[in-house]
Order: sequence, then C-alpha cells, then structure tokens
Amino acid sequence: MNESSLKKHLSKFELGGLRWFDSIGSTNDEALAWAAKGAKDFSLVVADEQTQGRGRLSRKWHTPMGSAIAMSLILRPDASMRPHLSRTVGLAALSLSDACLALGLSPAIKWPNDILLDGKKVAGILVETVWSGEEADSLVIGMGINVNRESVPPADSLQFPATSLEDHLAVMPKREEVISLVLDPMIRWRKKIETGEIITAWEDRLAFRGEAVQIHSGNEEIVPGILEGLESDGSLRLRDEHDKIVSIRFGDVSLRPSA
Ligand code: ATP
Repeated sequence: MNESSLKKHLSKFELGGLRWFDSIGSTNDEALAWAAKGAKDFSLVVADEQTQGRGRLSRKWHTPMGSAIAMSLILRPDASMRPHLSRTVGLAALSLSDACLALGLSPAIKWPNDILLDGKKVAGILVETVWSGEEADSLVIGMGINVNRESVPPADSLQFPATSLEDHLAVMPKREEVISLVLDPMIRWRKKIETGEIITAWEDRLAFRGEAVQIHSGNEEIVPGILEGLESDGSLRLRDEHDKIVSIRFGDVSLRPSA
C-alpha cells in the first residue's frame, strides 16, 4: 500500500480529506489534531506503520511496517448522532465485522472494542473525542487491523490471544481493499445510528453471548455474570450470580470468558 494506490481505491468515497503517512506516532493523535483544526467530516488518516500506536489507557497497539492497517476516521456528529455518541464504538465494531464477513470470515465482537476471529483479536478500536466546551465537536475512530501474520504481536506480550486476516484467508486482499470494505458499512450504519437496528445487530454479533464471562476493571474488581446483551446506549448487560441484571458501562473494563 502506498499513497497513490490508497487514493485510487478510496476514490469512490466522499472523504473530507485523506492524510497518508509511511510512519507516524499514532494515527489517532494526528486525527485529533486535524479535527481540532477543523478537519471535515469523514476525513481519514492512514499510516503504514505506527511507532506509538495506542490502545485504551496507556496500553500500546502494535502496528509494524508493511503488514497492518492503522487508520483513524474523523466524524463530525450531526443532530441524529449527537444523542447516541456512546454507540460510536458499535458503529466501528459493526463496520469492521462487516468487512470480515465480506471476506468470507466469521467475526465476533468482544465488547467493547475488539474484533475476534476464532476467539483471537484481529482488530481493535479506540474512539476519542474532540470537545468544544460541553459539546463533542468531532469523534476520532481509530482502527487497527492485523492483516499479515507479521502484524501479530509476540504471544508473551499479550493479555488476550491475537491473530491476523492472513491466518484465516487463502487469498489475501490488498490492505487498501480492506479499508474500503470497512468504510462502506461505516457509511450505511452511520445512517442508522439512532435506530434500534444498530443495537440489535451489534448484540447479535457479540462474542460470548449467553456465556459466563468476567468483567475486569481497573481497580482489580472482577464482576462475573452471564453475558445477556446490550443496553440501548451500548453498555453491556450481565446477569449476575444473584440473577440480577447489571449494566457495565464503557471505561477501563476488559471482558474475559470465565475459565
Ligand atoms: P483486552 O484485549 O486485554 O481485553 P483491551 O481491549 O482493553 O484489552 P486495548 O486497550 O483495546 O485492549 O488494546 C491494547 C492491548 O491489545 C495491548 O495491551 C495488547 O495486549 C494488545 N495488542 C496490542 N497490539 C495488538 C495487535 N496488533 N493485535 C492484537 N492485540 C494487540
């Protein structure tokens, strides 16, 4: 992938703008700065390599040169999206999982922000916001996709197993084709952001649905329960050991299957 092949593949989209980098610290940092300076809706930052790729909190996202997709999409929320900003991670998760489906794969969404193939992480999402006072001015949707095997971090550096598209495909698509496969559904799902359909689709694709899971939070607390589904804001609905429904909001929480 290079700038001209990317531009060619994405010419069918009405991008607000496109910035390509051979190497960058973090595409989200670039997109946040661009958004703060007035980037148009649906502007995209893509890099061949990230040297400071970020997960949630201070976690690192591994994006070695020539093998993965690191991209950040800027959305300027309109009136229909504004009441549903917490659904943005679902919008991204559905789009990434649609791209996997289009490649003939069977993805599952590990709430809140990862896409799994065969129980292993193939892609991750990091949504960040540019605020203007109390209002969200722009949303930056960072997406990292492991395309070739070389993009998968060493197993001993991971809390959760990882995989790549190459591990599951006989014929490899170009990375720019995969980006296009993600942007297509992003446009479609975004139009449905205020509908219940987006929650139902997101819920239907959840990994571990109906199974025993544990939610690990930053303060070492572990909440066990059966994964029931989602609330209308995208929070996770668990049935706890006393048969009570507990809602888990986004934040510093990690989902794990119970051993
Ligand atoms: P978890 O996967 O433990 O539930 P998380 O979803 O909160 O955590 P993120 O913060 O989204 O994790 O992503 C960062 C974590 O993902 C890192 O701590 C690392 O373990 C793992 N990771 C980093 N790079 C990759 C990659 N290219 N593919 C898969 N996993 C990765």
